[in-house]
Amino acid sequence: MDRIGFIGLGRMGQPVARNLAASGHALAVWNRSPGKSGPLLEAGAVEVDRPSAACAPGAVVFTMLSDDRALEEVVSSEGFLDRLSPGGLHVSMSTVAPATSRRLAGRHEKAGSAFVAAPVFGRPDAAAARKLWVCVSGAPAGRERAIPFLRTIGQGIYEFGDDAGAASVAKLCGNFLIAAAMESMAEAFALGEKSGVAPGALAKLFGETLFSSPVYQNYGKSIAEKKFQPPGFALPLGLKDMSLVLAAAAEARAPMPVANLVRDRLLSGLARGREDYDWSALALGAAEDAGIA
Ligand code: NAP
Repeated sequence: MDRIGFIGLGRMGQPVARNLAASGHALAVWNRSPGKSGPLLEAGAVEVDRPSAACAPGAVVFTMLSDDRALEEVVSSEGFLDRLSPGGLHVSMSTVAPATSRRLAGRHEKAGSAFVAAPVFGRPDAAAARKLWVCVSGAPAGRERAIPFLRTIGQGIYEFGDDAGAASVAKLCGNFLIAAAMESMAEAFALGEKSGVAPGALAKLFGETLFSSPVYQNYGKSIAEKKFQPPGFALPLGLKDMSLVLAAAAEARAPMPVANLVRDRLLSGLARGREDYDWSALALGAAEDAGIA
């Protein structure tokens, strides 16, 4: 049994931390807003009052935070890096910029600890069912140490080598593909609806045949039904990710015209007050353009 820390008990952090606790690890948890650790305390976790208290010399700490800024703030908080060294490991599961993962890997190395990026695919229900897909990259010893933990929270692990930023690149590529698929479905379903073909029938056809994959099946159903609440992955976080995709694309000199379109769909959603919608509500853009939303 390992003593580990877990920081960030949001929609994803809660179920992931619960599964780590259920695997027999002694957990110290911290969340910015208090009051979110209830079910974890029942599972034997201890709530601590600052990020550094979730770290111990040589131990493993996980973070599952909204964005780059939150992650940087936690790592820069008093005592975090000091408490983790010597020999500690930070497993960072948030979706952040590749440059952030690389910078943080450098800071940990300098402080005598290791940093591994381990962003995930799968929504909160998949996290609860230990069905996440995890991308991992970073120094080999850190990866080797992180993987047994990650096996207990996911159904598959994909390694992307020693560059801590590489797993973040893979995660951004995946979220771009999901957003592009949602936009394509929204446009096709708008065509169907305006032509007398029910979107639900199209979602069923394509989800069972040409596009029989979770993205088309699950998002296809909610887009066909125009059901975007409650959010599993909130629209502002989707906008964060498409902005990260475009920033990475600009840095790599790899134009992504479709990413610009879906970023603007998400921006329009926020302009219309959809903070509390799932990011699949970007599909409303095509419906609105077609005069059917
Ligand atoms: P969430 O429900 O909004 O939770 C965000 C967490 O970050 C909360 O614990 C929040 O604390 C904390 N946080 C935000 N700003 C902070 C700050 N400045 N300092 C300290 N803590 C801060 O988000 P989520 O859906 O769990 O997503 C977490 C990460 O996983 C994101 O990077 C997201 O892109 C990624 N992800 C999400 C999904 C999904 O389907 N939801 C799937 C794959 C990956 P408070 O409770 O105090 O607000």
